[in-house]
Amino acid sequence: MCRHLGWLGRPRSLAELILEPPGGLLVQSYAPRRQQHGLLNADGWGAGFFDGAVPRRWRSASPLWGDASFASVAPALSSHCVVAAVRSATVGMPIEASAAAPFTDGNWLLSHNGVVNTAVLPTCSGAESVCDSAILAASVFERGVGSLGELVAEIGAADPQARLNILAANGSRLLATTWGDTLSMLHSADGVLLASEPYDDDPRWVDIPDRHLVDAHDGEVSVTALEVIR
Ligand code: GLN
Repeated sequence: MCRHLGWLGRPRSLAELILEPPGGLLVQSYAPRRQQHGLLNADGWGAGFFDGAVPRRWRSASPLWGDASFASVAPALSSHCVVAAVRSATVGMPIEASAAAPFTDGNWLLSHNGVVNTAVLPTCSGAESVCDSAILAASVFERGVGSLGELVAEIGAADPQARLNILAANGSRLLATTWGDTLSMLHSADGVLLASEPYDDDPRWVDIPDRHLVDAHDGEVSVTALEVIR
Protein backbone atom coordinates (compact mmCIF):
# COMPACT_ATOMS: atom_id res chain seq x y z
CA MET A 1 0.00 0.00 0.00
CA CYS A 2 1.13 3.39 -0.69
CA ARG A 3 0.88 6.33 1.66
CA HIS A 4 -0.65 9.64 0.70
CA LEU A 5 -1.34 13.16 1.93
CA GLY A 6 -3.68 15.99 1.04
CA TRP A 7 -3.70 19.62 2.17
CA LEU A 8 -6.23 22.41 1.70
CA GLY A 9 -5.65 25.66 3.57
CA ARG A 10 -3.08 28.42 3.87
CA PRO A 11 -0.16 28.14 1.46
CA ARG A 12 2.51 25.73 2.73
CA SER A 13 5.70 24.52 1.08
CA LEU A 14 6.07 20.98 -0.24
CA ALA A 15 9.09 20.58 2.05
CA GLU A 16 7.01 21.57 5.10
CA LEU A 17 4.30 19.06 4.18
CA ILE A 18 6.29 16.13 2.75
CA LEU A 19 9.95 16.23 3.79
CA GLU A 20 10.24 17.95 7.18
CA PRO A 21 7.60 16.31 9.45
CA PRO A 22 9.13 13.61 11.71
CA GLY A 23 6.71 11.04 10.29
CA GLY A 24 6.05 12.65 6.91
CA LEU A 25 5.92 10.98 3.52
CA LEU A 26 9.72 11.03 3.27
CA VAL A 27 10.03 8.96 6.48
CA GLN A 28 6.98 6.89 5.52
CA SER A 29 8.79 5.93 2.30
CA TYR A 30 11.21 3.80 4.37
CA ALA A 31 9.60 3.52 7.83
CA PRO A 32 5.79 3.74 7.71
CA ARG A 33 4.19 3.14 11.11
CA ARG A 34 0.67 2.04 10.21
CA GLN A 35 1.17 0.31 6.90
CA GLN A 36 -0.50 -3.10 6.72
CA HIS A 37 0.62 -4.15 3.23
CA GLY A 38 4.31 -3.81 2.35
CA LEU A 39 7.26 -2.50 4.34
CA LEU A 40 8.65 0.17 2.06
CA ASN A 41 7.27 2.74 -0.37
CA ALA A 42 10.25 2.81 -2.71
CA ASP A 43 8.60 2.40 -6.14
CA GLY A 44 8.21 6.09 -6.84
CA TRP A 45 6.49 9.17 -5.53
CA GLY A 46 4.52 12.15 -6.69
CA ALA A 47 3.88 15.66 -5.44
CA GLY A 48 0.99 17.57 -6.99
CA PHE A 49 -0.12 21.08 -6.14
CA PHE A 50 -2.38 23.82 -7.41
CA ASP A 51 -0.82 26.91 -8.88
CA GLY A 52 -3.95 29.04 -8.82
CA ALA A 53 -6.46 26.71 -10.50
CA VAL A 54 -3.80 24.82 -12.46
CA PRO A 55 -2.64 21.42 -11.16
CA ARG A 56 1.10 20.81 -11.46
CA ARG A 57 2.95 17.58 -10.72
CA TRP A 58 6.42 16.27 -10.04
CA ARG A 59 6.50 12.46 -10.22
CA SER A 60 9.25 9.86 -10.23
CA ALA A 61 9.71 6.08 -10.36
CA SER A 62 12.58 6.24 -7.84
CA PRO A 63 12.56 6.37 -4.03
CA LEU A 64 11.78 9.78 -2.54
CA TRP A 65 14.71 9.53 -0.13
CA GLY A 66 17.19 9.56 -3.04
CA ASP A 67 15.88 12.68 -4.73
CA ALA A 68 18.27 15.51 -3.91
CA SER A 69 16.80 17.73 -6.65
CA PHE A 70 13.31 17.58 -5.15
CA ALA A 71 14.74 18.18 -1.66
CA SER A 72 16.50 21.26 -2.99
CA VAL A 73 13.47 22.76 -4.73
CA ALA A 74 10.63 21.66 -2.40
CA PRO A 75 11.14 24.51 0.15
CA ALA A 76 10.50 27.00 -2.66
CA LEU A 77 7.27 25.37 -3.93
CA SER A 78 4.26 26.52 -1.91
CA SER A 79 0.56 25.94 -2.46
CA HIS A 80 -2.79 26.11 -0.71
CA CYS A 81 -3.74 22.69 -2.09
CA VAL A 82 -1.43 19.68 -2.30
CA VAL A 83 -1.83 15.95 -3.05
CA ALA A 84 1.28 13.81 -2.62
CA ALA A 85 2.08 10.10 -2.37
CA VAL A 86 4.87 7.56 -1.99
CA ARG A 87 4.34 4.27 -3.82
CA SER A 88 4.72 0.59 -3.09
CA ALA A 89 3.76 -0.99 -6.41
CA THR A 90 1.24 -3.81 -6.37
CA VAL A 91 2.71 -7.05 -7.80
CA GLY A 92 2.44 -7.00 -11.59
CA MET A 93 2.05 -3.24 -11.89
CA PRO A 94 4.61 -1.22 -13.88
CA ILE A 95 7.20 0.86 -12.09
CA GLU A 96 7.15 4.10 -14.01
CA ALA A 97 6.55 7.76 -13.19
CA SER A 98 3.18 7.69 -14.99
CA ALA A 99 1.97 5.00 -12.53
CA ALA A 100 2.77 7.20 -9.51
CA ALA A 101 0.00 9.31 -7.94
CA PRO A 102 -1.28 11.94 -8.21
CA PHE A 103 -3.16 11.38 -11.43
CA THR A 104 -4.97 14.26 -13.11
CA ASP A 105 -7.68 15.16 -15.61
CA GLY A 106 -6.51 18.76 -15.75
CA ASN A 107 -8.82 19.87 -12.91
CA TRP A 108 -8.34 17.32 -10.13
CA LEU A 109 -5.36 15.62 -8.56
CA LEU A 110 -6.10 12.08 -7.32
CA SER A 111 -4.17 9.48 -5.34
CA HIS A 112 -5.16 5.85 -4.66
CA ASN A 113 -3.82 3.85 -1.77
CA GLY A 114 -4.82 0.24 -2.35
CA VAL A 115 -5.55 -2.33 -5.01
CA VAL A 116 -8.47 -3.05 -7.34
CA ASN A 117 -9.34 -5.63 -9.97
CA THR A 118 -9.60 -3.39 -13.02
CA ALA A 119 -12.04 -5.83 -14.67
CA VAL A 120 -14.79 -4.51 -12.37
CA LEU A 121 -14.18 -0.85 -13.24
CA PRO A 122 -16.54 0.96 -15.59
CA THR A 123 -14.95 1.33 -19.02
CA CYS A 124 -13.17 4.62 -19.38
CA SER A 125 -10.57 6.29 -21.53
CA GLY A 126 -7.56 8.40 -20.74
CA ALA A 127 -5.77 6.34 -18.06
CA GLU A 128 -2.19 7.54 -17.70
CA SER A 129 -0.79 4.03 -17.15
CA VAL A 130 -1.97 0.41 -17.13
CA CYS A 131 -1.50 0.52 -13.33
CA ASP A 132 -4.78 -0.26 -11.50
CA SER A 133 -4.67 3.10 -9.69
CA ALA A 134 -4.34 5.03 -12.96
CA ILE A 135 -7.34 3.20 -14.46
CA LEU A 136 -9.31 3.75 -11.25
CA ALA A 137 -8.46 7.47 -11.39
CA ALA A 138 -9.70 7.68 -14.99
CA SER A 139 -12.95 5.95 -13.91
CA VAL A 140 -13.44 8.48 -11.09
CA PHE A 141 -12.78 11.40 -13.43
CA GLU A 142 -15.22 10.02 -15.99
CA ARG A 143 -18.01 9.53 -13.42
CA GLY A 144 -17.29 12.90 -11.78
CA VAL A 145 -15.27 13.26 -8.59
CA GLY A 146 -18.37 14.60 -6.82
CA SER A 147 -19.75 11.03 -6.98
CA LEU A 148 -16.61 9.52 -5.43
CA GLY A 149 -18.42 7.97 -2.45
CA GLU A 150 -21.04 6.23 -4.59
CA LEU A 151 -18.45 4.91 -7.03
CA VAL A 152 -16.22 3.54 -4.26
CA ALA A 153 -19.19 1.71 -2.70
CA GLU A 154 -20.09 0.24 -6.11
CA ILE A 155 -16.53 -0.89 -6.85
CA GLY A 156 -16.19 -2.26 -3.32
CA ALA A 157 -19.30 -4.38 -3.86
CA ALA A 158 -18.07 -5.62 -7.25
CA ASP A 159 -14.57 -6.46 -5.93
CA PRO A 160 -14.75 -7.44 -2.24
CA GLN A 161 -10.93 -7.72 -2.11
CA ALA A 162 -10.47 -4.13 -3.24
CA ARG A 163 -8.83 -1.53 -1.02
CA LEU A 164 -9.98 1.90 -2.05
CA ASN A 165 -8.46 4.72 -0.03
CA ILE A 166 -8.69 7.63 -2.46
CA LEU A 167 -7.69 11.27 -2.04
CA ALA A 168 -8.75 13.94 -4.55
CA ALA A 169 -8.50 17.73 -4.65
CA ASN A 170 -9.30 20.48 -7.16
CA GLY A 171 -7.83 23.52 -5.42
CA SER A 172 -10.96 24.40 -3.45
CA ARG A 173 -12.25 21.00 -2.34
CA LEU A 174 -10.50 18.02 -0.77
CA LEU A 175 -12.23 14.61 -0.76
CA ALA A 176 -11.07 11.30 0.66
CA THR A 177 -12.40 7.79 1.16
CA THR A 178 -11.40 5.09 3.59
CA TRP A 179 -11.97 1.56 2.32
CA GLY A 180 -9.51 -0.97 3.68
CA ASP A 181 -6.68 1.22 4.93
CA THR A 182 -5.87 3.94 7.45
CA LEU A 183 -6.47 7.69 7.16
CA SER A 184 -6.03 10.44 9.73
CA MET A 185 -7.06 14.10 9.73
CA LEU A 186 -5.66 17.20 11.36
CA HIS A 187 -8.17 20.04 11.07
CA SER A 188 -6.86 23.37 12.35
CA ALA A 189 -7.46 27.07 11.76
CA ASP A 190 -4.84 26.84 9.01
CA GLY A 191 -6.62 24.19 7.00
CA VAL A 192 -7.34 20.50 6.61
CA LEU A 193 -4.62 17.89 6.40
CA LEU A 194 -5.45 14.29 5.49
CA ALA A 195 -2.77 11.61 5.64
CA SER A 196 -2.54 7.82 5.61
CA GLU A 197 -0.94 8.18 9.06
CA PRO A 198 -0.26 11.13 11.40
CA TYR A 199 3.03 12.78 10.52
CA ASP A 200 3.75 14.09 13.99
CA ASP A 201 2.55 13.88 17.62
CA ASP A 202 0.05 16.75 17.41
CA PRO A 203 -2.84 15.71 19.71
CA ARG A 204 -5.38 17.10 17.25
CA TRP A 205 -4.97 14.22 14.77
CA VAL A 206 -8.11 12.08 14.54
CA ASP A 207 -8.43 8.71 12.84
CA ILE A 208 -11.11 8.42 10.16
CA PRO A 209 -13.11 5.17 10.51
CA ASP A 210 -13.09 2.66 7.67
CA ARG A 211 -15.62 3.06 4.86
CA HIS A 212 -16.13 6.77 5.26
CA LEU A 213 -16.02 9.83 3.03
CA VAL A 214 -14.29 13.06 4.07
CA ASP A 215 -15.35 16.21 2.23
CA ALA A 216 -13.58 19.50 2.97
CA HIS A 217 -14.30 22.87 1.38
CA ASP A 218 -14.79 26.49 2.47
CA GLY A 219 -13.35 25.76 5.91
CA GLU A 220 -15.96 23.07 6.64
CA VAL A 221 -15.31 19.34 6.91
CA SER A 222 -17.84 16.53 6.88
CA VAL A 223 -17.14 12.87 7.61
CA THR A 224 -19.94 10.52 6.55
CA ALA A 225 -20.31 6.74 6.38
CA LEU A 226 -20.25 5.27 2.89
CA GLU A 227 -23.21 3.19 1.92
CA VAL A 228 -22.15 -0.44 1.81
CA ILE A 229 -23.84 -2.20 -1.12
CA ARG A 230 -24.31 -5.94 -0.67
N1 GLN B 1 -2.10 -0.57 -6.75
C1 GLN B 1 -1.37 0.67 -6.79
C2 GLN B 1 -0.01 0.53 -7.43
O1 GLN B 1 0.41 -0.51 -7.80
C3 GLN B 1 -1.23 1.28 -5.42
C4 GLN B 1 -0.41 0.43 -4.56
C5 GLN B 1 -0.43 0.80 -3.12
O2 GLN B 1 -1.35 1.42 -2.59
N2 GLN B 1 0.57 0.31 -2.50
O3 GLN B 1 0.64 1.52 -7.56
